[in-house]
Amino acid sequence: MTEKVFYQDSYQKTHSSEVIKLRDDGVILASTIFYPLGGGQPGDIGILTINGREYPVIDTCYDEDRKSIIHFMDEHSDMSAIRQGDRVDMAIDWERRHRLMRMHTSMHLVCSVITAQATGGSVGERESRLDFDLQGQVIDKEQLTSDLNELVAREIPVNIGSISDAELDQNPELVRTMSVQPPRGQGSVRTISIEDVDYQPCGGTHVRNTAEIGELLITKLKNKGKQNKRISIALVNP
Ligand SMILES: [Zn+2]
Repeated sequence: MTEKVFYQDSYQKTHSSEVIKLRDDGVILASTIFYPLGGGQPGDIGILTINGREYPVIDTCYDEDRKSIIHFMDEHSDMSAIRQGDRVDMAIDWERRHRLMRMHTSMHLVCSVITAQATGGSVGERESRLDFDLQGQVIDKEQLTSDLNELVAREIPVNIGSISDAELDQNPELVRTMSVQPPRGQGSVRTISIEDVDYQPCGGTHVRNTAEIGELLITKLKNKGKQNKRISIALVNP
């Protein structure tokens, strides 16, 4: 099992831990700041330093148990010197991660302006997308862009919290993306609240304040099937 340091502090850029399991394609660590692919957000990349040697991490994912986190190494990495128990100094690609945090937080703002159920989404470094089952709701690209930028300009704090499984079961409407159900069974689920704007279970990484997102632009509105509308959103200053 890997302790998720990024859960409590998404701003930690470096961290030290130890190897708890070696794989052919990477390592599992006791704790990590590397975010594993999930909830539409890509896995982190970065560098692990083990016994004075640098190993690039090309992707991060949960293991099958959903508790351990695999740091995938480049196929050309010679991992033969790594042993279980070795100390690891790690650094994530912070510029990339911070753009993903800004984009991810902007998706919560989109969910607040569009009340329909989200059916899917994906966070990108430059552009992200969210699909909605609009049920007739009409969206205007310029209006949506200006609504989002108003929320950015309000400098609203973004807070991490938690909700019990039981409470979440009683309030299923809190889960905004049907295809991304939060992991129940641990007793509680992590939540993200942006004051009165948005509140939902989410395990991703976010910025501390909406101002940090910067100016946003709706780049595309596209029909995906009868009801579904795909909304593409980009950072004006990546
Ligand atoms: Zn989120």
